[in-house]
Amino acid sequence: MSTTGNGTSPPGRRGAPGRGTAVRATRQGDAVCAALTETDAFTSAQDLHALLRSQGTAVGLTTVYRHLQVLVDRGEVDMIRRDDGETVYRRCATEAHHHHLVCRDCGRTIEIAGPEIEAWTAAVAAAEGFVDVAHTVEIYGTCAECAGTGTAASSV
Ligand SMILES: [Zn+2]
Ligand SMILES: [Zn+2]
Ligand SMILES: [Zn+2]
Repeated sequence: MSTTGNGTSPPGRRGAPGRGTAVRATRQGDAVCAALTETDAFTSAQDLHALLRSQGTAVGLTTVYRHLQVLVDRGEVDMIRRDDGETVYRRCATEAHHHHLVCRDCGRTIEIAGPEIEAWTAAVAAAEGFVDVAHTVEIYGTCAECAGTGTAASSV
C-alpha cells in the first residue's frame, strides 16, 4: 500500500523546460565514467574533478557529483565513506555484493568476499526479527607495498 511510484525525487522544481540542468548521457558523463575506470583506487569527487580538468575536460564539480550519483544509483559505481570521513567512488569489477580492503596510503583497493560476514549479519538480524537488511563492511589498512617490507612483524 505504500508503493506509489518513485518517491525519491526531492521537493522543488522539476522538469524545467529547455535549459539543461538534467543529467543526460553526455560526453561529460562519459568522461567521468572513463576517469573512474582508469583508476583502481577509490577516488573523491574533488580528485576526479581535478583529473578531468587536467585532461582538458571542462566540467564543474557539481556536474561530477551528479554523474557520480547516477552511476551509484545504477549500481555501476561503489561509494564508500573512508575512515577519514571523505566519500569516495570506485568502479568495481563486479556488481555483485562485495567488500573492500583499502590502503589508506595509496588507495589501492582489493575486492573481497566475506562469507562469514554474510552469515553473521544474516544471523544477528534474523535473531532480532529484522528483515530486508543490508550492510557495509570495508577494511582499511596499509598495503604491503606501502608498509615497506612484506614482513609485518614487530611493532616497536
Ligand atoms: Zn566494490
Ligand atoms: Zn598502499
Ligand atoms: Zn557483505
